[in-house]
Amino acid sequence: MRAGLVLVTGAAGFLGSHLCDALLAEGNHVLGVDNLSTGNIENLAHLKHESRFMFEQRDITCPFDPGSVSYVFNFASPASPADYMRLGIETMLVGSAGTIHTLEIAKKYKAGYLHASTSECYGDPLVHPQVESYWGNVNPIGPRSVYDEAKRFSEAAVAAYHRYHNVNTHLVRIFNTYGPRLQPNDGRVISNLMMQALRSEPLTIYGDGQQTRSFCYCSDLIEGILLLSKSAEHDPVNIGNPEEWTILECAEAVRALVRSSSEIAFKPLPQDDPTRRKPDITRAMQLLGWVPKVKLREGLERSLPYFAQCIQHERTRV
Ligand code: UDP
Repeated sequence: MRAGLVLVTGAAGFLGSHLCDALLAEGNHVLGVDNLSTGNIENLAHLKHESRFMFEQRDITCPFDPGSVSYVFNFASPASPADYMRLGIETMLVGSAGTIHTLEIAKKYKAGYLHASTSECYGDPLVHPQVESYWGNVNPIGPRSVYDEAKRFSEAAVAAYHRYHNVNTHLVRIFNTYGPRLQPNDGRVISNLMMQALRSEPLTIYGDGQQTRSFCYCSDLIEGILLLSKSAEHDPVNIGNPEEWTILECAEAVRALVRSSSEIAFKPLPQDDPTRRKPDITRAMQLLGWVPKVKLREGLERSLPYFAQCIQHERTRV
């Protein structure tokens, strides 16, 4: 437990909401903020009667002062490729002005600070698996740049507030994460495949499906993040599951789990789609004693009831 109030931005998002739950379970008082541009207030519905939780709908691209806080977790940003490409300018603003505003809060109240960075900082990586010392291969003007460069700017800002103002900062580079509360229509691969398999629709594979990703279950990720937030480490730390899958293998796993007869439908590969991604988690293991526990098949199984419920809601709405 941390003395004082913990601020979580992006609290209504997939990871933000799981983080709020974990912080409350530790006994903290939590103030969640979100502008609900991609977050879903339903993700916090179960906290309605939790007296240690407060929620404010606000856009952190405008400066704000929440009063004294002991810790800031900055998780506000559109995060799925479909969302950040639709909200390109908003994504750049939250990853620049939003990050500076939250760093100012941490500076003012001498609070700890953890920023949700991303494996996208590595772009289409030329080093595999990705180590934190790799500076990345990012197209600065491509369709993904609104997200990648905003997140890279945020890292620079966080490092600068540590360097110039001695803020107790932490940077987590989050690799692909999945689980309950992923938006069913966010266009990401796990949500698309699960929803398509449950609807018996074709499973969409972009390109030849040989590109790889390494998927971390949400509870593992949150555990790593909490450990990092309490550590003395200021440099970036990868948190993710190094179990690497091709997207085609992933589709087969979903199809088998759902016992679906869906066909595979190949679609064009989006521009600058990274060909591979796998975290080197040596630093997380050494610094935090953290390793992910949930394998993809098990995590998909745990996520299935949530996606099945999303289908139910879909059906009752029509
Ligand atoms: N992808 C796919 N079918 C889909 C959605 C995504 O083949 O319906 C691919 C996408 O092209 C990428 C990978 O799956 O290679 C992961 O995509 P996602 O949008 O989940 O996140 P990313 O890791 O690219 O940020």
